[in-house]
Amino acid sequence: MAHTVPETSEFEDGMSAKQLFQSGQGITYNDFIILPGYIDFTPDKVDLTSSLTKKITLKTPLVSSPMDTVTESRMAIAMALQGGIGIIHHNCSIENQANEVRKVKRFEQGFIIDPVVVGPNALVRDIFEIKENQGFSGIPVTENGSMGSVMLGIVTHRDVDFLNSNSLSMPVTQVMTPRNRLVVAKAGCTLTEANKILQESKKGKLPIVNDQDELVSLIARSDLKKSREYPLASKDNSQQLLVGAAVSTRDEDKERVKALVDAGVDVIILDSSQGNSTFQLQMLKYLKFNFPGLQIIGGNVVTVAQAKNLIEAGVDGLRVGMGSGSICITQEVMAVGRSQGTAVYKVANYAKEFGVPIVADGGISSVGFITKALALGASTVMMGSLLAGTSEAPGEYYFADGVRLKKYRGMGSLNAMDVNKSSQARYFSESARIKVAQGVSGSVIDKGTIHRFVPYLITGIQQGCQDIGACSLKKLRNMTYKGETRFEKRTVSGQIEGGVHGLHSYEKRLF
Ligand code: 5GP
Repeated sequence: MAHTVPETSEFEDGMSAKQLFQSGQGITYNDFIILPGYIDFTPDKVDLTSSLTKKITLKTPLVSSPMDTVTESRMAIAMALQGGIGIIHHNCSIENQANEVRKVKRFEQGFIIDPVVVGPNALVRDIFEIKENQGFSGIPVTENGSMGSVMLGIVTHRDVDFLNSNSLSMPVTQVMTPRNRLVVAKAGCTLTEANKILQESKKGKLPIVNDQDELVSLIARSDLKKSREYPLASKDNSQQLLVGAAVSTRDEDKERVKALVDAGVDVIILDSSQGNSTFQLQMLKYLKFNFPGLQIIGGNVVTVAQAKNLIEAGVDGLRVGMGSGSICITQEVMAVGRSQGTAVYKVANYAKEFGVPIVADGGISSVGFITKALALGASTVMMGSLLAGTSEAPGEYYFADGVRLKKYRGMGSLNAMDVNKSSQARYFSESARIKVAQGVSGSVIDKGTIHRFVPYLITGIQQGCQDIGACSLKKLRNMTYKGETRFEKRTVSGQIEGGVHGLHSYEKRLF
């Protein structure tokens, strides 16, 4: 029983999205609130299925940003298992980026595909160091010290625990359990079969080898107990996890795309802070011609005119946002950009006519902002700062002022630029002699694992949709365009009232 009051009625309450954005003033997520609708379903019934591109659909509308402190293979695997997707950053060599994509595509639940491996020249000292820094016990020894090489043995803590300091320079080959005494499983076996062998062997680790006796993966007894289901997981037709990768629009990155496609990438993001350029249009046309099946997200854009050019050139999705990111100083330095609420609404409203989905990118600081972005027409939401503090983000935790933190930096910050030219291309022209930073470098608080944090976000979005009266994201967008979702602007005091206030002190635990 959706209940709508006609806009002309004297009882008209709130505004339609069209009315909210017609003033010409830029509106951020914080500037407005959504009025409650009618509830006739429970929140767990809210269907969050949404399109990332014309051909890729996700069950969770969440995307991790291509930033070097946010998305590498670990994050991308976790995001895909939770029904979203990760976009691997390109602030690294082509080989490294393609390798990260490959790790996601080869991921099989329960199988460890990139364990720490040592070669025959490693010493007992190295094993102690690895154990201390990374806490692993069973470490495979292979001919050249990496995965895909012939298996020589395994060193476990039992092999080294009772050795004294005189043994530190002993080669691992003298203490390891050699290959002929190892129980292994053959590549291609199912997780259930491998687990059975592992249980019968009573060992801590089971190496999986191919016909050439090369190590392809490993399973661990400690993971057996943790094994769980991921019913929302984003998978391709061969049941492999979905993954995206970002590239610049420079000519050299044509080779990068080829390597990423060979590694199995599902979607490419053209990573420019201002996507309406001949460079992006040329790259897009080249990619569409040479890789016709590849899904490509263009951007970033914040206006209809920018979106129009990229849609005409054939993008499969649009990334929206300029200057709204938490680490971003573009609006301050360049004097260009747009308030994110307005950008999302304007571009989504136009792109829907062409069936092009929108990724709302940047400025998401709470789960409520995700719901707001979706209510303004975004199909998915991309996040940097919100995910950078999770254990799956690259980098180690450290303590400052008693708080557990991780580094988070803008890809347009001078620190990030120093690493690789590909990232520079997003923000600087290569010929620029003086670099003007468009981002800062900072830190974010520990958020625990993606496997707890994303379910919290999912539940939060479902509850928000329930309050609005939308049982699916498709319904939510329809309600917005029909004027059924009602919005209201918030004054500054309205915003203060909407946050925690009037307390002497409080603790903010979110989940
Ligand atoms: P957040 O989720 O932290 O608010 O924003 C993340 C988004 O900010 C990224 O997805 C990207 O679009 C944008 N971004 C990343 N690094 C920089 C930067 O250094 N400068 C600017 N202007 N934007 C950045």
